[in-house]
Amino acid sequence: MQWKSFDVHKADEVDVLKDFRSKFYIPTTPKGNEKVYLTGNSLGLQPKAVRELLIEELDDWATLGVDGHTHARRQWMPYHELLTEYLAYIAGALPTEVVAMNTLTANLHLLMVSFYRPTKWRYKILCETKAFPSDYYALQSQARFHGYPDAVVEIPTDSHGIISESTLFDFIDAHSDDTALLLMGGVNYYTGQVFDMEKVTHFARERGIVVGWDLAHAVGNVPLKLHDWGVDFAAWCSYKYLNGGPGAVAGIFVHERHHGKELPRFEGWWGHSKATRFQMPHDFEPISTAEAWQLSNPPILSMTPLLASLPMFAEAGWEALRSKSRTLTTLLANGLCELQDAYDADISILTPYENEKSGCQLSVIFQGYGRAMFDHLTQHGVVVDWRYPDVIRMAPVPLYNSFEDIFKTLEIIEKGILIHKK
Ligand SMILES: *Cc1c(COP(=O)(O)O)cnc(C)c1O
Repeated sequence: MQWKSFDVHKADEVDVLKDFRSKFYIPTTPKGNEKVYLTGNSLGLQPKAVRELLIEELDDWATLGVDGHTHARRQWMPYHELLTEYLAYIAGALPTEVVAMNTLTANLHLLMVSFYRPTKWRYKILCETKAFPSDYYALQSQARFHGYPDAVVEIPTDSHGIISESTLFDFIDAHSDDTALLLMGGVNYYTGQVFDMEKVTHFARERGIVVGWDLAHAVGNVPLKLHDWGVDFAAWCSYKYLNGGPGAVAGIFVHERHHGKELPRFEGWWGHSKATRFQMPHDFEPISTAEAWQLSNPPILSMTPLLASLPMFAEAGWEALRSKSRTLTTLLANGLCELQDAYDADISILTPYENEKSGCQLSVIFQGYGRAMFDHLTQHGVVVDWRYPDVIRMAPVPLYNSFEDIFKTLEIIEKGILIHKK
């Protein structure tokens, strides 16, 4: 099999991103061996630098108390601003268009307050079939809240959950007269399909539809150019590919064309002009950037990990990240195809991984194995996840996965196939 003759040690040796792996804690088995961690799409690994930074914040709190707002080594008051330039790089945005705040589902709601403006004639919300449940609940409840309970319309998929380009564009076109908002995942969490966000954004906006993207599975996974693409707004969480830690502070993008406009918005004091915020004025005066959508003062302890994790993306650079990611994922996909042929095993890869239509993740069904293959991988120290009813998601991440990780995974799957055959 070709993957067996692939020189993984050489590939790891010449990997330009190889030094990043040692900047993360790799989970271990009870015996202390490193696991093969392919679940960075669900919870990214902990950068080793987080601990020291957190201790510094705890020390500043201990010694300074309230004075930490202005005198901590990293002032708490404008703490979120420390992340802006890194988020702008990752999102392909102007620094004024991004801000770290709250959590993903909360942000989707806040953004829909401003950007879902239904009228009697234009009220529909288009999303993908099988959108992430939290997104669907958010959309449905916004639709009901605005008095349009039937507004949410799902874009159909094929039997594997994939939406073809023609279906997508035909569907948007067919609904263009009465659709107010298109809000879908830029990368589908279940299938790993990457949508052509640029093309979809242009196509829908030309038809008078406001376009928002949920980028939970896209940020830190595929390069984004939200500003140039003309996206109206976007939101993401930071604990998946961004390695911000469980429940990390999320992020939003609001295109600059919407800054300083009269928009309905749920407001809080952190969205108020910084010049007059502490004069505690009676009337709200919004900051003229995406920061106007902030509600509260930043949660320092859950933002700190992002100070360690986000700079790594700019340091590594998108070109190297994407290139290694393509190689890892393609190697895994090719190995699975070879195993399928060699053992006549029924392995289907749902993810359209060719032609840039995937990021890190492959969603795979081992037909006839049920959960057995998942359990086998888990027992052998390969961390993947199981999505009801039969999908195993595996996501090699270019910052910390190695070529050896792919090799080990394929070997363990091969063993699993042989055991199952007996
Ligand atoms: C992970 C994920 C979420 C999770 O939402 P939280 O508000 O962070 O709990 C929501 N939507 C999508 C598409 C996701 O992938």
